[in-house]
Amino acid sequence: MAAEHRFALQVIIPSHLVGQVQSKLAYVDEAIEAAQIAPDGDSVQLQLRSSLSAKVLSALEAKVQQVVADMASGALPPKVEILEDHMARPVPYATDPMPELLARAEVSREHTGIYSLGPLVTRLIEVFERYFVRLAAEFEAAPQRFPTLISAEKLDRVKYFRAFPHSLTFATHLREDLHVINDFAEHTHYEETGLNAPPEAFSKIQALLSPAVCYHYYFALADRPLPGGQLTATAVGHCFRYESSNLNTLERLWDFTMREIIFVGPADFVLENRERGRQKVAAYLEQIGLAYLVESANDPFFVGEFRKQAAFQNAFQLKYEIRARLPFKDSSLAVGSYNYHQDFFGRHLNITLPDGKPAHTGCVAFGLERLAYAFLSQYGLEPAAWPALVREALHG
Ligand code: 5GP
Ligand code: ZN
Repeated sequence: MAAEHRFALQVIIPSHLVGQVQSKLAYVDEAIEAAQIAPDGDSVQLQLRSSLSAKVLSALEAKVQQVVADMASGALPPKVEILEDHMARPVPYATDPMPELLARAEVSREHTGIYSLGPLVTRLIEVFERYFVRLAAEFEAAPQRFPTLISAEKLDRVKYFRAFPHSLTFATHLREDLHVINDFAEHTHYEETGLNAPPEAFSKIQALLSPAVCYHYYFALADRPLPGGQLTATAVGHCFRYESSNLNTLERLWDFTMREIIFVGPADFVLENRERGRQKVAAYLEQIGLAYLVESANDPFFVGEFRKQAAFQNAFQLKYEIRARLPFKDSSLAVGSYNYHQDFFGRHLNITLPDGKPAHTGCVAFGLERLAYAFLSQYGLEPAAWPALVREALHG
């Protein structure tokens, strides 16, 4: 039987961290169905899948206290830098588009976090994609195609498992063993929460589903001098981030698509192009009438790495997000990001510049489903009400 449990926090969560701590609570324990931090950051309300003994409950509470302490104790408010603010741009729509999208089969839920998209949303994403391809051409970016799977060995090399363990999605297969395969074929069914096959039937993990696009490019350049000393590339690809109970609507998907423009070279080359990209994109977002802002941000590092890495990204201005307004809930959603990784990938992957130093990297990345969702949240599902540029581009 489901139960609720509310308790006070030993460390009060400062307001700038409430959202980020909240999203981590989904990973604390399988018994937690949902967790809600009070707006002033001093207590947590848990919805539990079943009622628990006092002992189990106190162990669970200790885990939550630990997460909060690790992420929030002594955390200084970040220096929030707002590079563009067009949040007040007038938009005609203020309704949650999700019920209408589902009703029209423009969005169909296949499973938690896994959605199919219908013709209107697909065409809208194609409008954005045509623009991104033109934008990439202005940078003379080389087109690339990357696999959906990604090498576990290479992800390990760039310390991905330390930084984002919670959102990994693993690819496996049955072990090469006649008995195991026959047994699977005969007995496997989907039960209430998943396949009933025993874990021993599966191979060791060699590949995962890719969490990002640009990593593939850095892997392709590894262990050699960077050809020509600087490179620009572009690709679109499926990305996978397991978001646990945070997976709902098109705001967070387990499987989403990302378009990236990627820069590899000396620091000034990467930084200048990231900035050039931002200015070009700002002009486009104005043309399509999007209400948004661009502000400093950090990646969603897991608990142990969070404080240090988030502070580092903030101090060195490594990440800015394009946050589009969601008028129906008076909040915003990251639809893209401008990233600079310094020489992190160059060092770990041994990509060298002509002077022998490691290459720097950066990328401009757009979440296509989120961009469409944010646009539809601001303009609704009737193209007649859309800005002319988008409406006219709908049919190619
Ligand atoms: P980043 O590399 O900055 O984490 O991700 C780049 C972009 O991908 C984000 O700005 C966002 O638009 C998109 N993205 C990241 N995570 C998710 C997710 O869970 N669901 C969806 N739909 N898009 C995401
Ligand atoms: Zn990237």
